[in-house]
Amino acid sequence: MKELGMDTLNNSKVIIARERINRPLDKMNSKSNKTIENNEYSKSCPFCRGNEDNISDETYVINKDSKWIIKSVKNKYPIIDENPLNEIKGEHEVIIDTYKHNGNFYNMIEEEFYNLLLMYKARFNSLKKDENVKYICLFKNYLREAGASLMHSHSQILSLPFIPPDLENEYKVCEEFYKKMGINMYNHLIIQEIKNKKRVIHDSENFLVFVPEVCRFTGDTVVLFKSNTYFYDLNDDNLKELSIILKKLFERIYEEYGNSPFNLYIHTHPVNIEKDYKDKYNVHIHIVPRKFNFGGFELSTGMYVSSVKSEDIANRLKYD
Ligand SMILES: [Zn+2]
Ligand SMILES: [Zn+2]
Repeated sequence: MKELGMDTLNNSKVIIARERINRPLDKMNSKSNKTIENNEYSKSCPFCRGNEDNISDETYVINKDSKWIIKSVKNKYPIIDENPLNEIKGEHEVIIDTYKHNGNFYNMIEEEFYNLLLMYKARFNSLKKDENVKYICLFKNYLREAGASLMHSHSQILSLPFIPPDLENEYKVCEEFYKKMGINMYNHLIIQEIKNKKRVIHDSENFLVFVPEVCRFTGDTVVLFKSNTYFYDLNDDNLKELSIILKKLFERIYEEYGNSPFNLYIHTHPVNIEKDYKDKYNVHIHIVPRKFNFGGFELSTGMYVSSVKSEDIANRLKYD
């Protein structure tokens, strides 16, 4: 049976068609057989430590034992324009997650995640100083299937002079919920999901990791901050807790699905804007596995098809 559902966080229309999981290439159990690069250094990689001549201006560097371990640089091929007269003026930086060519979210240790989160926060704070910036977009593509053009693990941060449509949608959904129910939708969701248990992957002091009941992108795993603090106000303890979660969650994904492609993005409040949805919106991270791909139907209609139950995905990744 098919059903029409709405993505829990942004109200996108989703067709739920569970039996499609039996299609030959869509098997949820299939594990990626891609191997992880062996070498810590590659001569031809512009992001490797030692090949600094090949990359453009650094904006921020974290060092250890007087050598860089993470750095942010201006993107050589920015999505947006640096010209202040252009209506899509902004900055686009590439954050090299680790100096190691073979490092990635599946093998990074807690300390590496913590340093990377410090880098995310530092660049976020710096980019929001420009008052024309209304939203800061932080994301990561891992492997070609997820849009990565270079294999060396990296993230990207962009400042935008407007709020992107998907965020407008999320803000609208939580604002309507607030108007109707008089409470923050995310708080409501946290209480419901913890009570229900089935879609929860992990529940820690300040974060809930779960798979929303209906997701536009199958397997969309959400790491939700339990309070409505701004991303740039997450304190040191929060970042430490989050780094433990990311380390463990990616370890679990690797155990279940192997070295598989994913996108990760942080959704947060707008900046330099009075109406910033502070009481209604909670920062969260989406981790979208790219093993359940989409095709012509999705492109031609803007609707998504979900073939896997969120409960089944959560159940596989669950940990204490
Ligand atoms: Zn490299
Ligand atoms: Zn979101």
